[in-house]
Amino acid sequence: WKKQLLTLTPYQPGKSIDSVKKQYGLETIVKLASNENPFGCSDKVLERIKNYSESLALYPDGRAGELRETLANMLGIPNDRLIFGNGSDELIRIISRALLYPGANTVMASPTFPQYRHNAVLEGAEVREVELVDGKHDLQGMLDAVDENTNVIWICSPNNPTGTYIPDEELQSFLEQVPGNILVVIDEAYYEYVTAADFHDSLSITDKFPNVIALRTFSKIYGLASLRVGYGIADPSIIKVLEPAREPFNANSFGQQAAKAALSDQEFVARCREINRKGLEMFYQFCETHGLPYYQSQGNFILINFRMDANKVFQSMLERGFIVRSGALLGFPQCVRVTVGSESQVAALLKELEAFL
Ligand code: PMP
Repeated sequence: WKKQLLTLTPYQPGKSIDSVKKQYGLETIVKLASNENPFGCSDKVLERIKNYSESLALYPDGRAGELRETLANMLGIPNDRLIFGNGSDELIRIISRALLYPGANTVMASPTFPQYRHNAVLEGAEVREVELVDGKHDLQGMLDAVDENTNVIWICSPNNPTGTYIPDEELQSFLEQVPGNILVVIDEAYYEYVTAADFHDSLSITDKFPNVIALRTFSKIYGLASLRVGYGIADPSIIKVLEPAREPFNANSFGQQAAKAALSDQEFVARCREINRKGLEMFYQFCETHGLPYYQSQGNFILINFRMDANKVFQSMLERGFIVRSGALLGFPQCVRVTVGSESQVAALLKELEAFL
């Protein structure tokens, strides 16, 4: 099974601002490639980090005790229903490490967030990918792919890169049909951006279905991608199974403090969500005007079909100072995924796209 490893390529991040500046001799670059928050993080986080004086020589709290208490209180759940990761990326790895191995299989949508597949291959498990239908998870197809060797099912809602989501009723009816010995991971990295009224409530879902874990992150709306903090919400029996696969000091001290401060500023979160919604509307309007197919998004990004080689659009935008994500790397060779920036960034990008088309 190690042969499978040779089919993997290391994660290819978007180009960095500095490298594009140098390459094209541009002064201003706008990066809209990695679904980061264009407004950074809350001032409360910056204040907390500035005043953080604990010794760098000490290991962080491996249990993330303070952050755990704060988050558990905020969510209104017992603190043993949480697990913290070095980003939700690490939680994906922990789940894979704990539950996948040669002989087991795992079911996921395609295209979706690539780290589910990547980690499953690393563990030697068989990957069963079920094509999206109209950009959405084919839940029946995913159920059909399940057999007695299936250990984990991955659901990404809102899905990266399409931005589509699974309405609560559909999700619950799916969960009712999944055998209880299979772990269902619901990756909600973009949860705080969601405005759909029929989006599921992970707290009641993980209560009702003890075989479900919801993953969230401080990297997106909270604007802390560089500090690497993510968390999972699940029944304590699931957390217990996963904990041994976690690195003992996975979430660093700065990240824990920053995340705690970030939670205390829900106004910032609400503001970002609202601006994001307006930015998405600007993109929708643009797509309608130009007859470009797109998916309605519940995330902070939009996948637009330019009906041409996506790399062409990517390259042209790069030369104009905008780093976007070519769909060629995401399973959509004619689409480009763009992070919703600030209103002025979106307006400037749309102007360039207009000129390009
Ligand atoms: N899940 C999804 C769907 C994502 O898009 C991302 C980030 N691109 C992650 C997980 C990982 O985020 P992080 O490790 O920063 O929490």
